[in-house]
Amino acid sequence: MFVLQEPLKFRPKCRVELHVHLDGAIRYETIWEVMRQKGLKLPGSGSLADLRAAVQVKEPQDLCHFLRGFQIFFPAIVGDLAVIERIAYEFVEDQARESVAYCEARFSPHLLLPNQDTQPNFLQNEGGTRINGSVDGITESHSVSNDEVDVDSILNAVLKGLARGEEDFGTKVRIILCCIRGLSKWSWDVLRLCEEYSNRGVVGIDLAGDEGHSKEGQSAVESPVELAVFEAAKEKGIHRTMHAGEAGPASCVKLAVEVFGAERIGHGYRVIEDENTYQMCLKENIHFEVCPHSSYLTGSIKSLTTNSKRHPVLRFAEDGASFSINSDDPTITSTRLTDEYKLLYKWGFTEAHFSRLNFQGAIHSFLPPEEKKALVELLREVYGIVDYTIPTPTSLSPATTRTPSPPPKPSVTFGTWAERA
Ligand SMILES: [Zn+2]
Repeated sequence: MFVLQEPLKFRPKCRVELHVHLDGAIRYETIWEVMRQKGLKLPGSGSLADLRAAVQVKEPQDLCHFLRGFQIFFPAIVGDLAVIERIAYEFVEDQARESVAYCEARFSPHLLLPNQDTQPNFLQNEGGTRINGSVDGITESHSVSNDEVDVDSILNAVLKGLARGEEDFGTKVRIILCCIRGLSKWSWDVLRLCEEYSNRGVVGIDLAGDEGHSKEGQSAVESPVELAVFEAAKEKGIHRTMHAGEAGPASCVKLAVEVFGAERIGHGYRVIEDENTYQMCLKENIHFEVCPHSSYLTGSIKSLTTNSKRHPVLRFAEDGASFSINSDDPTITSTRLTDEYKLLYKWGFTEAHFSRLNFQGAIHSFLPPEEKKALVELLREVYGIVDYTIPTPTSLSPATTRTPSPPPKPSVTFGTWAERA
């Protein structure tokens, strides 16, 4: 039987994805269908193509512009447990089609609460009004006004969808819960959820949101609540990753690692602007969750203050840094994991790079030691690597103890971002 005719569940899976936003990875078809059902105003003529065009970001600007697409479809999903479960289930199917063996998807359950009084900037209309259940003056949707819905029920709906998906499609997905910059009132509750659901599919905590206002040399005092939450997370053995060095400078990466005790960095591209911080990350074996298309579309690469506009992932690969390849927000970028791999292939990445970065992803995943070991075993089998000893898993290790690196990096010559077309 041809591999492609095998049921999705049994097809070989060889990729590990660690940075993808569940609420930024929704099928256009699902958004379109739900918005129509709820009588929400669709962009343009109301066609699926117009919806897609309105949500998708095609040219780089900044992170706020990048996140504006969420405004269109968030009203369709907030507070709707059935839709949220469906999104989680479909996400697993899509990941299985991308040959993903293991994935960590992240989201903020608090952002999906109905009837909130506050929203992050990117979910507000021009006038700063909240958008729950109402877009451009369209009436409140019937299913977003459910006051019974709380963060626990939202998280449970996601976990239920993921479990059904894993059963049907064979891809394992675990959850990272996001604190949001500027919305500290939720951060302690995020930690509570991480703790309470640690045996039910939640594997780590993240700090997301716009770091665009972060200035060189800023202090941790600007997010004292999140700092305390991250310190508590470390104490409780909860794994930590943090969006840093995407819009913000290299000092944000330094802060994330040295002060917040982040084990992985979401994006981190601008770390290469400061050699000392970059060398520290290499030494500490900090893992970078690289998202190629999103890095371009958020303007992070354009804003690099290095002489060369070569993508930092090329430097990471040349230096043997630990990194994985991720899709971030497929609904916004309109790319799937395969597109990210194709792009890097064009730049000179080889199969050796791809297998190395997938092993790095597995090793730096937030899975418990036994499951991590099983994942590495699975990759060994798929990649046909027999003489590879698994480094000791460092689950629950303090931020100062990093996972050892796998074998030497493959060598390669690279193109530049400009050659992407
Ligand atoms: Zn992200």
